[in-house]
Amino acid sequence: MKLGVFGGTFSPPHKGHINAAACFQKAFALDKLLIVPAAIPPNKAGVDILSSRHRTEMCKLAFAGIPGCEVSTIELERGGTSYTYLTLSELSGEDVELFLLMGSDMFLTLGTWRKPEKILRLATVVAAGRLNDPKDGEAMKRERERLLAAYGGKILFLDKPVTEVSSTFLRDKIASGEDTSEWLTEPVRRYIEKEKLYDVQR
Ligand code: ATP
Repeated sequence: MKLGVFGGTFSPPHKGHINAAACFQKAFALDKLLIVPAAIPPNKAGVDILSSRHRTEMCKLAFAGIPGCEVSTIELERGGTSYTYLTLSELSGEDVELFLLMGSDMFLTLGTWRKPEKILRLATVVAAGRLNDPKDGEAMKRERERLLAAYGGKILFLDKPVTEVSSTFLRDKIASGEDTSEWLTEPVRRYIEKEKLYDVQR
């Protein structure tokens, strides 16, 4: 079984995430794609993060249209800092081929993650980024060479234009009451409004 994994904070999940996940699913003909909200993302330790319940609910709404896609609470149930190598170890199995999706910003830090050698042994790493942008594309190719030389494994690039948006940008927009319909799906926007998340001003 080809199993895709896409982890993150997803606060909130936006069209950049959804488009990347849909393209990942299609490009690798995944049998299943798990969206994995982190309990405590290692790069956001000490940062005040929205409750896992709200992030999980928003992920369910955001990714509902992608066939074979499910939201997994594996990291939330484990609790503590969410290390990807632990998640991949839990998901690995004899008949499972793992694919791990990440954006270029995360890919460029992969060498600093806990046990990158284990991550690259357990999964094919798939990085989504601006491959045609000379700066981003060159940095990604250089990092791929460096990681492969150090740890081996398989690293592929997702060949699709990136939707330029981040959750940080959207949290600010929501807080100031601006229109976010270009980047958030309607069900996610309604959920944020109903639950009064991110200090929505009315
Ligand atoms: P924040 O602004 O809060 O850091 P974010 O928008 O980067 O959030 P995360 O939940 O931290 O979102 O990211 C989850 C995963 O999605 C990471 O691998 C990240 O690189 C990737 N990602 C984030 N934004 C995009 C995008 N616009 N297109 C493709 N991948 C993205």
